[in-house]
Order: sequence, then C-alpha cells, then structure tokens
Amino acid sequence: MYIRFVLDPFVPHGITKVIRRVVSDLKRIFKEVTYSIESDETLVPLLKRDPLPVSKVFQRKANMTCRGVVVYILSTNLIWQNRDIYGISLPSRCVIGLRDLPKIGYKMWSSRVWELILHELGHSFGLIKKYRTYSKVNNEGTRHCLNNCVMSEDSYDSVWGKRANMRFLSRKPYCNDCLKYLLLKDA
Ligand SMILES: [Zn+2]
Ligand SMILES: [Zn+2]
Repeated sequence: MYIRFVLDPFVPHGITKVIRRVVSDLKRIFKEVTYSIESDETLVPLLKRDPLPVSKVFQRKANMTCRGVVVYILSTNLIWQNRDIYGISLPSRCVIGLRDLPKIGYKMWSSRVWELILHELGHSFGLIKKYRTYSKVNNEGTRHCLNNCVMSEDSYDSVWGKRANMRFLSRKPYCNDCLKYLLLKDA
C-alpha cells in the first residue's frame, strides 16, 4: 500500500510527526506500507475559498504512479462544516481540513488528527460494509462502527476527543471487526 500525503504550506509542522505515527500503526496491520509527504504550494489559491468545496480538491490531478491513496491535509474549513477539523473520503482519496489547530495545543490535536486520518483512510479502504452488524448509518448516509474504534461516528465533540486520545495511547485504532475486513483486503 502506498499513501501519498499532500499538505498545503500552512499546515502546522507537528503534522509530519502525526503522519509518521499513522504510518507506524498501519504497518502493524498491513504487510507493506510506503508513504511520502509533500508540501504543495499550488493548493494555496484554493484556500482563499472559505469554506473550501471538497470537489475543488478532488478535481485536481494527482499523478499516482502506483496503486495507492492520496491524503490531502489542508489548513482550512471544508464545505459547510463549521468545525476545526473535518475529513471526507472517496475510494483512494481523502481530504482532511484543519483550522486553528495550534490554538488547542499539539497534545490535544495530535490524537484527533491521528484518528481522523485513520478514519478517512478506513472509509477509503471500504469500511464499513452494509452487511456489518453493530454498525450505524449517519445523517450523511455513511456507515460507521459502533465498537471502540476509529471508524465510530464522527461527532467531533470533547467526548470524541477523549476517546480518540485513549485509542491513540493504546495504539489500537481499529476494532477487531474492522481489522478483520482490512486484513482480508490486504490478503
Ligand atoms: Zn466517517
Ligand atoms: Zn470498527
């Protein structure tokens, strides 16, 4: 698996540390994980749109030389979501929008961003399938996991923040049901 992280130049520096942690946790799951991190200045004009329509990012050509996922990490709000952090994904593409992160401090935001990246990557890999018991569809029509898992429903409140931090510390992002699916996909 290849993951290409594309950042705008204003994303806080701490992000690379979070990305490395995401990759190290994925390496405990998947046989082979390679990744790259790049800062892309051509994303800057997009940031003038506030909030940013995600379609503008998805329309961009991402030259992929092999099978993989592109994860855009942008220092802005995404579409109508008035949240500090928010993510959206399609198969093989994710967009993560982050705003004003330094205000809440690295310790606070690192585990949330870690969880959000793994959550959107999970969707990109095909989680959660219809047949899964103990799952729930949210208002936007996306199925989420009801276990203790990064694939649980995104509510972005303080309760979620605490849960994300616990999962971050335990280094077990995905529950056994989600893990089973990911391992089958990787086989
Ligand atoms: Zn979701
Ligand atoms: Zn799960």
